[in-house]
Amino acid sequence: KANRYFHPEDTILNINGAKIGGGNFAIMAGPCSVETKDQIVHTAKAVKAAGAHFLRGGAFKPRTSPYSFQGLREEGLDLLKIAREETGLPIVTELMTIDTIDRFVEDVDVIQIGARNMQNFDLLKEVGKTDKPILLKRGMSATIEELLMAAEYIMSEGNENIVLCERGIRTFEKYTRNTLDLSAIPMIKKKSHLPVIVDPSHAAGLWWLVEPLAKAAMAVGADGLMIEVHHDPANAKCDGQQSIKPEKFQKLMGDLKNMANLF
Ligand code: PEP
Ligand code: MN
Repeated sequence: KANRYFHPEDTILNINGAKIGGGNFAIMAGPCSVETKDQIVHTAKAVKAAGAHFLRGGAFKPRTSPYSFQGLREEGLDLLKIAREETGLPIVTELMTIDTIDRFVEDVDVIQIGARNMQNFDLLKEVGKTDKPILLKRGMSATIEELLMAAEYIMSEGNENIVLCERGIRTFEKYTRNTLDLSAIPMIKKKSHLPVIVDPSHAAGLWWLVEPLAKAAMAVGADGLMIEVHHDPANAKCDGQQSIKPEKFQKLMGDLKNMANLF
């Protein structure tokens, strides 16, 4: 179902008026984690003013260490809803377990499946039974074929509203957190009709690499970007080193708008 051979035209998702795919470039921006009401509302307003189409923010966080901040969980979803009311931005947030799926279906605009759960097949099948748009992130060690088959699991249950996301893969390189696989974008677009966005923040792991990688993503034909933005990266509870400040985000958005005329 994800195969372009059987579905030659690009899929375009329309999520509360924000379109992704088929030439519509969508920007999802916000902090790694929802931390406080002020933080998420402030950031939501800043990214909206800069031209973002979606607010991202983790409530349930998949952390490497069980001792790291795990997210505000249900309270985080409440705060995201407040930020949506204040700005009108649709919200994108990660679902980690099947037992919270009803709350997500009720309250969230786009359900994110994180890299670590890309092959959690039961979770994929469960979100496949909903009609929510799904942002499916590539596993850090997943091939493009495995990503497309993960999308197929969701689609096989009836939900075809999927956005794929390249967020960097593990290689031998250590200067960057992951290696952004830019060739995955034109490759996926050749193989599949689904929209594909790029997350340069998790790929790079370094805030100053986000801008060049975001521009590169647009240049290779991505359908959008997911970017981590924090007003005080040094004190962020998660991923501060890869988060850009709202002012930097605004400048990047201006540059991308100028670049869009080239493609
Ligand atoms: C995220 O987007 O918050 C995240 C945890 O990303 P990934 O699943 O790509 O590591
Ligand atoms: Mn993060």
